[in-house]
Amino acid sequence: ELTYSDHYTTDTRDQLLAKIEAHLRPARFAHVQRVEQTAIALAKQYGADIEKASIAGLVHDYAKQRPDSDFLQAITDYKLDPDLANWNNAIWHGVIGPEFIKRELGIYDEEILDAVRYHTTGNPYMTTLAKIIYMADYIEPARDFDGVEEARELTARDLDLGVAYQTWHTLTYLISENKAIYPKTIETYNAWVPNSG
Ligand code: GDP
Ligand code: FE
Ligand code: FE
Ligand code: FE
Repeated sequence: ELTYSDHYTTDTRDQLLAKIEAHLRPARFAHVQRVEQTAIALAKQYGADIEKASIAGLVHDYAKQRPDSDFLQAITDYKLDPDLANWNNAIWHGVIGPEFIKRELGIYDEEILDAVRYHTTGNPYMTTLAKIIYMADYIEPARDFDGVEEARELTARDLDLGVAYQTWHTLTYLISENKAIYPKTIETYNAWVPNSG
């Protein structure tokens, strides 16, 4: 079992798990543990920090099941970009999630927090850890959608190929559903997809 020793959190893994479980319904709690395990495997393959992969995987959806009012309050209280108020939970839980993770879980490592910030939309620049969380969320073992097997194969072959694949598929899906595209999603697309083969 993984023991945390690098001080990204003062909690043990079991203590951190208990705090996360208190904020998530059972299906979501199970998802974050699968993302953790997938992220740890990718961290071993791609030479990223195992502890950071564990912590980031566990906390990536920490804010997913909070009421909208919590996010709107955070936008005001912490003077975040006022345009965020025009979006919704799908965007907020990633972008604003770190505000709650810092204050409630005491995790301040900026690479872990950036991995959470970018897990839904990606980002033009991502560390290996951020790419791993972005992909682990997409390909964890319970994910089942057209293309998930190809996403798993590409990610196993080359992490960047997985990032480009997910980025193209997500934007294509959002457009096909007439959904609003968060600007960061477009920035990620422009950085990762054109001329990527
Ligand atoms: P989850 O939290 O594990 O369910 O997964 P994600 O955080 O990756 O995605 C949450 C939701 O955000 C999904 O339904 C995505 O399709 C959606 N999403 C991702 N990018 C955008 C975007 O640019 N605009 C909108 N409207 N939704 C998005
Ligand atoms: Fe998420
Ligand atoms: Fe995702
Ligand atoms: Fe997730």
